[in-house]
Amino acid sequence: MEMGIVTVGELLYACNENRLVKYRGFGLKAQEEIRQKIEYFLDARGKYLCASVETVAEELLAICRQVSPQHTFTLCGDLRRKMPVVCGVELLTDAAEEPVIASAGLERSPKGNLIFRDMPVFIYSVPKQQMPRELFVRSASQIFLEDIGPVEEDFTDENMIFLQKNLPAIPPECREWQLASMPGQEGLDSLVQVSDIKGIMHNHSTYSDGLHSLEEMALYVHQQGFEYFVISDHSRSAGYAGGLRIEDVYRQWSEIDELNKSFGNQFHVFKSIESDILTDGSLDYPDDVLAGFDLVIASVHSVLTMDEARATSRLIKAIEHPATRILGHPTGRLLLARPGYPINEKKVIDACAANGVAIELNANPQRLDMDWTWIPYAQQKSVMVSINPDAHSKESIHYVRHGVNVARKGLLDRSACLNSLSCDQFIQWLATR
Ligand SMILES: [Zn+2]
Ligand SMILES: [Zn+2]
Repeated sequence: MEMGIVTVGELLYACNENRLVKYRGFGLKAQEEIRQKIEYFLDARGKYLCASVETVAEELLAICRQVSPQHTFTLCGDLRRKMPVVCGVELLTDAAEEPVIASAGLERSPKGNLIFRDMPVFIYSVPKQQMPRELFVRSASQIFLEDIGPVEEDFTDENMIFLQKNLPAIPPECREWQLASMPGQEGLDSLVQVSDIKGIMHNHSTYSDGLHSLEEMALYVHQQGFEYFVISDHSRSAGYAGGLRIEDVYRQWSEIDELNKSFGNQFHVFKSIESDILTDGSLDYPDDVLAGFDLVIASVHSVLTMDEARATSRLIKAIEHPATRILGHPTGRLLLARPGYPINEKKVIDACAANGVAIELNANPQRLDMDWTWIPYAQQKSVMVSINPDAHSKESIHYVRHGVNVARKGLLDRSACLNSLSCDQFIQWLATR
């Protein structure tokens, strides 16, 4: 018997009608997993990573400003709010739509949507005096807008709206929460910024699956003006990623010692490992090897299909290991590619608090894991958040910027950001467990 399924939609239909279970090799569980994967796939259509839309948006903006200097153009929407996933480029202007389309060379898709460099473009055209208000309304969450109340007048500047409401000027990426949870001017000023980042943590080299050598990575991070660098290649169970055997670990440690000698007190390389969290929640390597690292980052890379209870206890067991100092990418999600395993984030954050473990905000634009919505709870529990590039090449250390963007959405104060510690402060922090 053949299924006669040609499209993804038909496959979803077949799952919903329990057709798959009639076939050899398919049980209810497999059918449900396939159904969930299809729904995730369909839901991801028409969505893009913020990081990939950003450059296209800037290019379009520059073209529009060049061809119509008499008009005003500004980006708004999810992109301006620095959402991790966006629907395309949203452009607000006082120019009429048709001339913009013609002069900027926008194309129309068969469905009639505007396209620039393969990305959907949405143009909101309003009279000039309405632009600040429109920009405001189009750059905030529903919760935030409802709390602010109606904005009925026109203003010459978006910040006038805050002034009139007796509020500090809240940056667009922070306009996510009810006003009661927003910090005052001083709190907004101390939200983490890229310039606060002093240490680059969670990086890979050619010892495992990185593109550049340990020395190249360290020199590059030093040249970029940072104070310290944490190398954390993959551990031995991550065979697919060239995880380090114990003898490789020792070899790396002596190379790090040599590098640190040559850097003197100008810069410091810390010995770390991204230790796999094994299926039962234990870490890779015997305890005496783990104890030799300056810090251990513990992450899940295998057996990602788990229910919430199992995933949560697996993570908590790893957090409780005395060598663990950072919990890496807590859910394992890849935005628009796979959902993370479900975890009880409060229990995980509580365990981090009880064990002096920092929680990672993995800044790779495809991860941005932990989710920024968990940051207020982490801060409430005094858990440090570590904004890490998970760099597999020199240039990708700059992913940190994406992490900072979403950390600000979660209202992360620089004092709660592990990477804002100076090298000396970081050494002190390492001694606290
Ligand atoms: Zn990892
Ligand atoms: Zn990694």
